[in-house]
Amino acid sequence: DGLRLRTGEESPLCPGPVNIPEPVIRAMNRNNEDYRSPAVPALTKTLLEDVKKIFKTTSGTPFLIPTTGTGAWESALTNTLSPGDRIISFLIGQFSLLWIDQQQRLNFNVDVVESDWGQGANLDILAEKLASDNSHTIKAICIVHNETATGVTNNLATVRKLLDDYRHPALLLVDGVSSICALDFRMDEWGVDVALTGSQKALSLPTGMGIVCASPKALEASKTAKSVRVFFDWNDYLKFYKMGTYWPYTPSIQLLYGLRAALDLIFEEGLENVIRRHSRLGTATRLAVEAWGLKNCTQKEEWYSDTVTAVMVPGYVDSSEIVRRAWKRFNLSLGLGLNKVAGKVFRIGHLGNVNELQLLGCLSGVEMVLRDVGYPVKLGSGVAAAAAYLLNNTPLIPSRI
Ligand code: PLP
Repeated sequence: DGLRLRTGEESPLCPGPVNIPEPVIRAMNRNNEDYRSPAVPALTKTLLEDVKKIFKTTSGTPFLIPTTGTGAWESALTNTLSPGDRIISFLIGQFSLLWIDQQQRLNFNVDVVESDWGQGANLDILAEKLASDNSHTIKAICIVHNETATGVTNNLATVRKLLDDYRHPALLLVDGVSSICALDFRMDEWGVDVALTGSQKALSLPTGMGIVCASPKALEASKTAKSVRVFFDWNDYLKFYKMGTYWPYTPSIQLLYGLRAALDLIFEEGLENVIRRHSRLGTATRLAVEAWGLKNCTQKEEWYSDTVTAVMVPGYVDSSEIVRRAWKRFNLSLGLGLNKVAGKVFRIGHLGNVNELQLLGCLSGVEMVLRDVGYPVKLGSGVAAAAAYLLNNTPLIPSRI
């Protein structure tokens, strides 16, 4: 149909996989190496030390696993829990739904707390369940920090506070796939027992590495957890950590060098500045949505996500058509609405390697496509609202002051 395939040139503004920075692409453009030589363990040692910084943990033990976010979920669950264990899990969108499905298929007794898509986890119900669980039948709380399908960020500090208030020993397992390295995330301070992310999100790497970090309490739990695990067994990693060779099986050499370059970029910008940049991009996007006269799928400000915005469209517009046309006409990748919100929302991913001007380009693309599908937006309205905010809030680049 005349569609040109311009591989490698599209602008990915979908919420993952995201745009990879050039220095990271160059760092990965290299040959394989023998992972048993001294060089790869030396590199791995620095990576394990440095990934702890993005989780904000000093006491956690990280694992770099050749997998995706889904495998990282499985690693978190099977290493810490036994079949039949009661866990509380919040259903608020497609990714929490998929995690719950995995928990059920792994034979845990999942106590699902459901909310409307667009709302955050219902922590009042969590409080009730913790209050009535004197015999500590609840073994874990599983929560997605940032629900990528609806652009909802849950309040983990409150989850921790509830566990502390009720002196409840349940493990806290957190999916940080679209939050870690972009949103404020504090593993130690919030007493998170297992936190996990995937390489293709805020770290801006190719897909293929699941990064899982376990607290001392989670490592302790892994000694008695009876779930069957083989590929994901933390114990295999720990054996090789002790020996100083680090790898129970063959790592992707290219991804390790990519991770090194990605972390270097993040530390050069400063993790706190990275988080502030995401906050600016999130606010700017929401201002644009408001200027377009459209609604955010996220129902309350307290849940607004600074990594992904799910935009609701009027009933006469199919949001999937917006995503299709953005790609076909302007080479812009947006995120589709998933499952319950398919056709009703499209998503703008503003996470990882994206800056103010890339976002403005995306917003102007969205405006053109909105007009194209018959929504009467004033061209430039969202861009103007976002730009006015960014003009007043974007700091000087530190190295250029
Ligand atoms: N968790 C969240 C919050 C996600 O957004 C995703 C994917 O988008 C996943 C888990 C699953 O990750 P993967 O597709 O890498 O398995």
